[in-house]
Amino acid sequence: MKKTTGMDRAITRKWKPATRAVRGGTWRSEHGETSEALFLTSGYTYDDAQTVADRFAGDAAGMTYSRLQNPTVAMLEERIALMEGAEACRAQASGMAAMTAALLCQLSVGDHVVSARAAFGSCRWLVDNLLPRFGIETSVIDSADNDQWEAAIRPNTKVFFFETPANPTLDVVDLEFVCGLARSRGITTVVDNAFATSALQRPMEFGADIVAYSATKLMDGQGRVLAGAICGSEEWINEVLLPFQRNTGPNISPFNAWVVLKGLETLSLRAHKQSENAVALGMAIESRVPRMLHPGLASHPRHELALKQMDATGPIFAFDVESRERAFAVLDALQLIDISNNIGDARSLMCHPASTTHAGMEAEARAEMGVSEGLLRINVGLEDIEDLTEDLDQALKAAGL
Ligand SMILES: *Cc1c(COP(=O)(O)O)cnc(C)c1O
Repeated sequence: MKKTTGMDRAITRKWKPATRAVRGGTWRSEHGETSEALFLTSGYTYDDAQTVADRFAGDAAGMTYSRLQNPTVAMLEERIALMEGAEACRAQASGMAAMTAALLCQLSVGDHVVSARAAFGSCRWLVDNLLPRFGIETSVIDSADNDQWEAAIRPNTKVFFFETPANPTLDVVDLEFVCGLARSRGITTVVDNAFATSALQRPMEFGADIVAYSATKLMDGQGRVLAGAICGSEEWINEVLLPFQRNTGPNISPFNAWVVLKGLETLSLRAHKQSENAVALGMAIESRVPRMLHPGLASHPRHELALKQMDATGPIFAFDVESRERAFAVLDALQLIDISNNIGDARSLMCHPASTTHAGMEAEARAEMGVSEGLLRINVGLEDIEDLTEDLDQALKAAGL
């Protein structure tokens, strides 16, 4: 394997974001391929016994086993780190593998976690169900209220865990305030940045320690594979995450890593265009729906903050049509936009969170976090905005709106 400039940090760290997205992490083999190679291999062979002994001892660089290293996965990790502005990244099998690893690798019995109330259903399950089973205390707060973050801190608080914008209520967390508060108290922030990605928001610029991803969403961007990632300092990744990851094995398949690697090349273009479409579609229907949750619109309580910490507000928004029956009527009348609980796709997709992504939660906790029976969430894709507006318009009409 010949290293090219895509892996040479002295060079890649000087590149602008668009160059990093297309060239960063490219690690060419002796064939000089233009597109990154897909190394579907679980193991490696060695010319002699001493070589492998040296690698296992950490005295020589080189691959030993794909739970520990894989060239295609390494290319993805390097590109994600470059785009995030992070020192290091490790790819994971899925977004939930990433969240689980990012939390469990650093928490022990007796620790305390403060977490945002508005969160993806499985993220809440980790906080509400998994962590307490291992003697880790958790507090769930209204993440849009800065005072609640401070009030929730205990002497044993180890981690702040939140999404911004949050799934599916689009709550926006004040990154500078919350990350700054955590820093000043020696607390590690774990930010789930799936709704924005580094193309739209880089939490580390506001002091975040760890940025974790579902790369299934905007990073792949075409609804093909499950993937995840964790970014952090070189020290944290090597000393805190890697011992956990190497021994528990939440690894991404090289094939999935390769698909996401290709997705990253167009991430910024897609994320910006989809954000633009989402603002246009939100504006077109805002006056017709009882409640609109869209950080890109002036009606969002943290619109100004969203514009301050994001380059664009993302492809996802939500709105409330007041009852499950009416929400289902809107979904059933759609002709172009698909009924689907995925997000980040280039296709427009819509779902009813209370009966899908958040169905596993207690009804009371769901209502408390704003996932009402009439809430609909939409991922706005790359289709023509006129076609999208026309479809949503006729679906709302069919539901009596
Ligand atoms: C989808 C999602 C996850 C989980 O990701 P998977 O890749 O489906 O495991 C976590 N957090 C947020 C905010 C998500 O939208």
